[in-house]
Amino acid sequence: MKLSKRVAKIQPSVTLAITNKAKQMKAQGIDVVGFGAGEPDFDTPDNIKAAAKKALDDGYTKYTPVPGSPELKDAIIAKLSRDNGLEYKRENIIVSVGAKHSIYNAAQAFLEEGDEVIIPAPYWVSYPDITLLAGATPVIVEAKQSTGFKITAGQLENAITPKTKLVVLNSPSNPTGAAYSKAELEALAHVIVKNDIAVLSDEIYEKLVYDGFRFVSIATLGEEIRKRTILVNGLSKSHSMTGWRIGYVAAEKDLVAAMSNIQSQSTSNPVSFCDKASIEALNGPQDFLKGWVAEFDQRRRFMVERLNRMPGVKCLLPQGAFYVFPNFSGCYGKKTPAGTVIKGSADMADYLLAEYKVASVPGIAFGDDACQRFSYATSMKTIEKGIERVEQAVKALS
Ligand code: PMP
Ligand code: GLU
Repeated sequence: MKLSKRVAKIQPSVTLAITNKAKQMKAQGIDVVGFGAGEPDFDTPDNIKAAAKKALDDGYTKYTPVPGSPELKDAIIAKLSRDNGLEYKRENIIVSVGAKHSIYNAAQAFLEEGDEVIIPAPYWVSYPDITLLAGATPVIVEAKQSTGFKITAGQLENAITPKTKLVVLNSPSNPTGAAYSKAELEALAHVIVKNDIAVLSDEIYEKLVYDGFRFVSIATLGEEIRKRTILVNGLSKSHSMTGWRIGYVAAEKDLVAAMSNIQSQSTSNPVSFCDKASIEALNGPQDFLKGWVAEFDQRRRFMVERLNRMPGVKCLLPQGAFYVFPNFSGCYGKKTPAGTVIKGSADMADYLLAEYKVASVPGIAFGDDACQRFSYATSMKTIEKGIERVEQAVKALS
């Protein structure tokens, strides 16, 4: 079949592919350590599951409103007010089938052929492809390890052209865990407002921050930037609900209405009983999070410390999310015991998986070939085993 030109421009999600590959290897009885996972290893809290079961028993199994039920919108409005100090109305909120779908719908409603979208690298794998699927052009701005994997206001300003329509910010970031301070966001917001462009602020890792870091949404920094913000969030990471597929956008009402039209002609409503479960997730107790964050924090410190001890490896201490993004470029040019020269992050990931049974995501998938992404959303025991293997793999290079 002759496929569309549009689809030829995109790749399948590398992160999902690697997670699945590691799961398959485990199912075949191979003792693989999965550092690929982009999802918390904790179970969804029981009160949320109970709300879904009740919804099923109550027969809440039919079509529901396309942009999410009014009750769920109200729970999101209350969350944004409580946690972020942001006031929205129902007309500003749309719930979709996961935050990835929220971003996809926003791109379809907001972008067109010829538009440029500024995406700081390292970036989450789906931003460039979602931009391409909307017919627009990704413009990559590099944030290096030496600048904490964050772009400056000056870099943003320099990347803006008359075609720029949107910049994507993801703080805390997947894959680096870097998070922007209020002052850094103020500087970026100033450039965004001055140039009259919009920002898509992906805040899905908001709740997973360490060392007392205070998360700030860019939308809170004044009315001018709020009007230009497409705020994206969801329950996948904060409530360990990756499989439930609930994400949402808060934005200007015309954009939300357009997204709702797209959704009504594509997926229709978010799954009915997940809608009910999400109301419980947002309105119910949040105390489980403290334990999760403490656990992630301990794993994060352990991984960073051990990685920095390895020859040729350099790793920053991330402020958020559940990934570390160590630089392995000091190993490039070296030979594996089998005689293969490691030329970049894809070779490194292949070597770790084939010879040491450690699954990780090559940095090239995120626009940074010097690094690897290791997820610490797995038990401390698994992390100890995996890090041991990585250490052996690095030492075996010559
Ligand atoms: N944004 C970022 C930065 C992510 O890491 C993810 C993880 N999948 C998503 C959005 C999408 O999350 P989901 O579709 O599961 O809500
Ligand atoms: N966001 C997760 C990750 O980066 C899940 C995978 C995906 O949605 O691509 O691993």
